[in-house]
Amino acid sequence: MIERENALLLSKWIDSAGIITAVCHARPDGDAAGCVVAASLYAALCRGKDAAIILPDAAPASIQFIFAHGPSAVINALADPLEAGARLRSTDLLFCLDFNTLSRTEGLEAALRSCPGRKVLVDHHQAPAIEEFDLCFSDTEVSSACELLYNLLMQMPDIGGDPSRLPSAVATALMCGMTTDTNNFANSVFPGTLRMASELLAAGVDRGDIIDKLYFSERPNRIAAQGEMLSCKMKLLPCGVAVTVLDKSFYERHALLDGETEGFVNIPLTIKDIKLSILAREEDGRLRVSLRSKKGVSARELAARSFHGGGHEQASGGKILVPDDIASPSSAQAYIEEVAARFMREKYAIEK
Ligand code: 5GP
Ligand code: MN
Repeated sequence: MIERENALLLSKWIDSAGIITAVCHARPDGDAAGCVVAASLYAALCRGKDAAIILPDAAPASIQFIFAHGPSAVINALADPLEAGARLRSTDLLFCLDFNTLSRTEGLEAALRSCPGRKVLVDHHQAPAIEEFDLCFSDTEVSSACELLYNLLMQMPDIGGDPSRLPSAVATALMCGMTTDTNNFANSVFPGTLRMASELLAAGVDRGDIIDKLYFSERPNRIAAQGEMLSCKMKLLPCGVAVTVLDKSFYERHALLDGETEGFVNIPLTIKDIKLSILAREEDGRLRVSLRSKKGVSARELAARSFHGGGHEQASGGKILVPDDIASPSSAQAYIEEVAARFMREKYAIEK
């Protein structure tokens, strides 16, 4: 629920801001990309502001199309830290989107902390660090940050609850983010999610085009890699957990681009008795871990317990540190199997 008072306060702050910047979490996904584009475009097109996007690091090629209608200024802070720092120093209003604490922006955190502008959070993760922000719109009963931002924009006086007043590029970006975070309406779908989808469709968003770009535009490399992953890499444990480790050579063999194994972690969950899927990928001497679970098993708790991470109940992430957690990446498989089996035993009394 968005308090009308807070929405109106945000609207006043937008009025009095000259320079508005939108930021999201590191390794942006479709939801993060959708909401930075939607927030900055709304500020530019509907409120006449100087608006830009700062990403903590690059967005994968598969979601680049979401930025196609965004403002021309998309700063990659990892590639261009000076430009990102200069922009933040002159920012009056900072939209902090799809993360619950500034540390989720990783290398950008210090620059965000010293940004003199007002910080406005729009997020759908548990336990937001409210002390880090001047105004918080936080709700876990929505599919995505894009859905919450949609609800917020509907309350802006110039939009007045009429989705047809949203510029079509804003509406399209919001639909993209909601679609990816629900895995195309497979999870985290609330009544409000379908309401938003219905209203955006009625307002003219081309969902067919979005689906084509998101799900029917793969490179053959990705499909070949998926084949090898499923036939050779995925290991099913008797405790109902699937463990998959993708090492550097896997990425090289298939000439995969950054982010091109996005979504692989969901596939093992389609198996009847698999309740938790864990996928680790080797990157820069450590491993990034993605966790997905079925209802009744907390991916978030295991991410927090064993992988220095967190997220949502059914979709979380984290990392395995070398040499802190394991001596070398070659021990990752055994390490994950051990912590996963212990978790299923201790928390769910699954003894196998
Ligand atoms: P993914 O597996 O797609 O990288 O991440 C799934 C979800 O887990 C993200 O939407 C985010 O909520 C959460 N997440 C991913 N990595 C981390 C992390 O390092 N720390 C925390 N706290 N959450 C993460
Ligand atoms: Mn999200």
